[in-house]
Amino acid sequence: MAQIMIKNVRKDFGTFTAVKSSTFTIEDGEFFMLLGPSGCGKTTTLRMMAGLELPTSGEIYIDGEEVGMKPASQRDIAFVFQMFALYPHMNVGKNISYPLVSQGMPRAQVKKKVAEVAEILGITDILHRPVGGLSGGDRQRVALGRAIVRDPKAFFMDEPLGALDAEFRERMSEELRALHDRMGATTVYVTHDQLEAMQMGDKIVVMNHGVVEQFGRPQEIYDWPSTMFVAGFLGSPAMNFLEFEGALDTNQTSIHIHGSDFSIPPLLEGARGKLALGVRPEHVRFSDSSSYKGEVLATEYLGTTQIVTIATPNGTIKSRMSAAQPVTVGEMPGLEFDSRTLSIFNVETGQALL
Ligand code: ATP
Repeated sequence: MAQIMIKNVRKDFGTFTAVKSSTFTIEDGEFFMLLGPSGCGKTTTLRMMAGLELPTSGEIYIDGEEVGMKPASQRDIAFVFQMFALYPHMNVGKNISYPLVSQGMPRAQVKKKVAEVAEILGITDILHRPVGGLSGGDRQRVALGRAIVRDPKAFFMDEPLGALDAEFRERMSEELRALHDRMGATTVYVTHDQLEAMQMGDKIVVMNHGVVEQFGRPQEIYDWPSTMFVAGFLGSPAMNFLEFEGALDTNQTSIHIHGSDFSIPPLLEGARGKLALGVRPEHVRFSDSSSYKGEVLATEYLGTTQIVTIATPNGTIKSRMSAAQPVTVGEMPGLEFDSRTLSIFNVETGQALL
């Protein structure tokens, strides 16, 4: 097991900076997600931790030891690739035992280790099968077996489920998480899928254009996004932004938008100019007592819930509400936002004020 610390790590490819000064810590035993859109620098960050890429500057510590310039082979970690490349001419057992055999481990010990790993993964009965005819799930288990058989300090996974269809992906993500909980090894996992990150991760780093926007527990960053980018990237539909011109001080307890007052949580900093109220769709409700009105433009039925698109004086927003609630296109309901969960942003800087 291992704690991993990234301190002011930067990576340039020629004149292009793929990762700008990044700092965060992955605690021992955590299932840690690197999340962000394509090209944001998450794979490069993972490869630097694993020793497959050298940082241009900054430090990387594994269990307190600075490893930034050490090659992957000296970091005692296992990298699980997306394609799960297995050795096609070897059976399942041989595929799993390969890393141990190539280290020169005695045969009896190898056999014992492979049996243990097969037991953990539930593949004891296929140890003698060739890998060619295996199902996708079993191939994945074999690839994982090969990674965990060495008892590495940490696992690094780059979109390991990316190539799988939705149903299978969900099953494998549950298995991966359960495996982690049994073994307790630090795992760093790259994904662009915010739902996967929220479901599987103990902690998440959200990256954008090579910059760490925020890191924390899934609920923390969902409820208290520190930037508009994070607020918009997590959640589906995304957080609504109601833009307004205003001036806010730290002692402010409410904001005034289009003739209506909305209570707000305490602000960490004041701001003036172009601001935005951030409201999650599940926190937009209809209310007869509210004078802030919108027009229902469309409804989308999703079974237990529905997504309602509403034109407001501050732009179009979406609400997620019970499908049992009657909603008619064209109606003009009063709107209420749950004040405990509002975010407020400075639109110019993209930073949250609370
Ligand atoms: P994706 O999910 O698409 O892989 P990512 O967030 O993992 O995206 P990276 O693979 O880390 O992003 O790439 C970040 C940026 O660095 C991209 O613009 C990419 O084109 C660039 N990049 C990555 N590797 C190299 C390289 N070896 N040489 C030049 N540019 C690179």
